[in-house]
Amino acid sequence: MDLQQIIDESSRIVFFGGAGVSTESGIPDFRSVDGLYHQHYDVPPEELLSRTYFNRHPEAFFRFYRDKMLPLNAQPNAAHRKLAELEAAGRLSAVVTQNIDGLHQKAGSKRVYELHGSIWRNFCMSCGMAWPPEAIRDSEGVPRCSCGGIIKPDVVLYEEGLDNEVVSGAVHAIRQADTLIIAGTSLTVYPAAGFVTCFRGRYVVLINRDATPYDSQADLVIHRKVGEVLGAIEVHPLTGTPSS
Ligand code: ZN
Repeated sequence: MDLQQIIDESSRIVFFGGAGVSTESGIPDFRSVDGLYHQHYDVPPEELLSRTYFNRHPEAFFRFYRDKMLPLNAQPNAAHRKLAELEAAGRLSAVVTQNIDGLHQKAGSKRVYELHGSIWRNFCMSCGMAWPPEAIRDSEGVPRCSCGGIIKPDVVLYEEGLDNEVVSGAVHAIRQADTLIIAGTSLTVYPAAGFVTCFRGRYVVLINRDATPYDSQADLVIHRKVGEVLGAIEVHPLTGTPSS
């Protein structure tokens, strides 16, 4: 079976994606060797992006966040676009992503479970008012609401829990899926591995540039860039279902 055949046989694909899905849009993976970790910050990203650090050093947190975490002009790549097409064609039921860049929605995907939140949602920690990401980008120091509260991005920091509704939605989608495509993640990052065990469908496909600990358990493993692989897929409408 190749990926095209698997997709042509599927009508409830769930795509589970990690940082590698967005690298072709110019967004670095901060865990990878050439990622943010090596870009001259005194404190490693795991610490900078922790809730403790946010509480203790909000100015330094927002300096890093503005500098590295707000790629508001980034554009979807071939992977994002193809997934939106597959959903529109009735072949894909959901995207589950560890990314916070909102590129799936930008590409037109409708059902997206953002496990780690989104840079596009920001709320005042005092009054709860919603703010666009530009309010953080264009501010200096610690971004403040009109009420004086700190505007916090709706992204899951280290030490924070995942949103229960998002998690249960993602788990439900994976349980109902006939095919699970895991891409751009080594699956070593919590909670990726746990989600994969919920899958009860037919095919597991892994697309990742490097080998992962799960390669041997997949039905198909492709060690190439995600955008390259998905970009080459043809989207065929579902057959055998009444069209009107
Ligand atoms: Zn406020």
